[in-house]
Amino acid sequence: MMADEADIFDCQQCGYCCHGETTVSMNDKDVERMCNHLGMNFDELREKYLRVTGNVIQMKIVDGHCIFFDNGCTIHEGKPWRCSQWPVHPSMLADQANFTAISSSCPGIKKELGYTRFCEILREVLKKQKF
Ligand code: SF4
Ligand code: SF4
Repeated sequence: MMADEADIFDCQQCGYCCHGETTVSMNDKDVERMCNHLGMNFDELREKYLRVTGNVIQMKIVDGHCIFFDNGCTIHEGKPWRCSQWPVHPSMLADQANFTAISSSCPGIKKELGYTRFCEILREVLKKQKF
């Protein structure tokens, strides 16, 4: 049977991953995708939605969450790749501590599978991804 992301993750829509003091950092492709999605140039995007600190580009935080969060992500097609990847993250394969950390902050991770089985499925899932 082919492994599927749904075998290891079922988003509970808690919104925890979109809350905090910072957001994920965006790379050039993320910026381009978001500009295209919103029909804005970089200056417009920056003014309205971004927090730029030196070389680090993040999304603004409003009321303790990402500016695009409103009962869920409101910019699915234009969101950064790190948001798309979360929480099915390859770092969990390298270190069980990462599995523990991610699964304790994301209730959607099916940690009841146990680390070994979780990693077996995660490996299959990551093979199919193209980030
Ligand atoms: S923390 Fe996990 S379960 Fe909650 S919204 Fe984010 S991805 Fe979904
Ligand atoms: S872009 Fe969407 S998924 Fe990413 S932090 Fe903002 S609201 Fe959450």
